[in-house]
Amino acid sequence: MGWTFEIPIWGITLIFLSGIGLLFIWAWFNNKIEELNSEQEPKFLNYTEDEFDNILYKWEYELNYDDKYSPTNFTPFCPDDNCILHYGKCPICNRNFNRYFKDNSELEKIVIHKIQNDLIEESEIKN
Ligand SMILES: [Zn+2]
Repeated sequence: MGWTFEIPIWGITLIFLSGIGLLFIWAWFNNKIEELNSEQEPKFLNYTEDEFDNILYKWEYELNYDDKYSPTNFTPFCPDDNCILHYGKCPICNRNFNRYFKDNSELEKIVIHKIQNDLIEESEIKN
């Protein structure tokens, strides 16, 4: 003789509703954690491109040994075509940008200066 028991409709409904309730709580909780994580990330990490002396530069940030972010991997682009420069020239419009070039350490200093002095325009921060 096997065990059988009947679950009243209200019981099934209750289980179903509490399951949905738990799902909502979990989703809300997850959302809160994501919000907190994004708030902790410094806003300047979204400042990854800017134009200096007619050249559009894009870069990344790396966390260095003393746990500070520093801009790195600067890549020069043609500001008109948004194309990576090839030996200082734009492969699309053939403009030569060699005389406007800045080296990485100079660019790093300019970017850090803009970050530290809060000179970043809202429009320069990617979302
Ligand atoms: Zn170009």
